[in-house]
Amino acid sequence: MATHDFDTLTVEIDEALCIGSGNCVNMAPGVFQLNEENVVEFVDDPQATDDEEVIEACNLCPVDALIVHNADGEQLVP
Ligand code: SF4
Repeated sequence: MATHDFDTLTVEIDEALCIGSGNCVNMAPGVFQLNEENVVEFVDDPQATDDEEVIEACNLCPVDALIVHNADGEQLVP
């Protein structure tokens, strides 16, 4: 489980669930990339346009491998 803290969001990757569909990468290429095993990982120094981009990208995951919490600890995705 890799975790990255944005200003107001925390994103967790459950690599065991990822099937490499690339949806999140296409939506937020400044945040996610696929590794050589076709499993998602964070890029170096992830940068998102805004929170909505991150939330939308994580919502597009077909297997709920991307978990998002806000600063209050409330789970936003999935
Ligand atoms: S959308 Fe989900 S399954 Fe597809 S690459 Fe991203 S984390 Fe993996």
